[in-house]
Amino acid sequence: MRIAVCPGSFDPVTKGHIDIIRRAGMLFDHVIVLVSVNPDKQATFSVDERIDFIKRCTSGIHNITVDYNEGLLADYISKSKASVIVKGLRAMSDFESEFQMAITNKKLNSNAETVFLPAMEENMYLSSSQVRQIGRLGGDIRLFVPAEIEEEIQIKLQKGGAGK
Ligand code: ADP
Repeated sequence: MRIAVCPGSFDPVTKGHIDIIRRAGMLFDHVIVLVSVNPDKQATFSVDERIDFIKRCTSGIHNITVDYNEGLLADYISKSKASVIVKGLRAMSDFESEFQMAITNKKLNSNAETVFLPAMEENMYLSSSQVRQIGRLGGDIRLFVPAEIEEEIQIKLQKGGAGK
């Protein structure tokens, strides 16, 4: 069984993330969407909220589960019996850091192969930070996040951030 991991901060999950997760689900037997907890980065939404958002947006996809990880991705890959890391690639700006991470993960765990899926044109310039910024300023985030979670995210961002 081919198990893939889709890691990210998902703070919050966007339509761009969901597209990559959905496509990974079509390519692999099982996909673990992994909320990576980065102690150096202050997240806007709590881990539980981020997991809940992803679960609600992927409930129709049978081969997806959601988990979180506080340690190294390379170690999680060994523990979970996954062999593939799936990452979305947006504009050229993603290349440098994503290549660096792919090579480092392979060095740390020789079984960890990274596969890149190109972002869809409409998601090419979409990021979680953009959603947070637009939402905080009262802008309409419906274009950027799935309908299932849009209202909740909008309310929490306008209250001045969530999960703190
Ligand atoms: P962000 O950069 O928005 O904070 P994450 O760290 O949560 O996103 O990203 C997790 C993965 O999802 C990365 O591989 C990233 O390239 C990919 N990704 C992020 N936004 C998009 C998008 N709009 N389209 C496709 N892939 C994306």
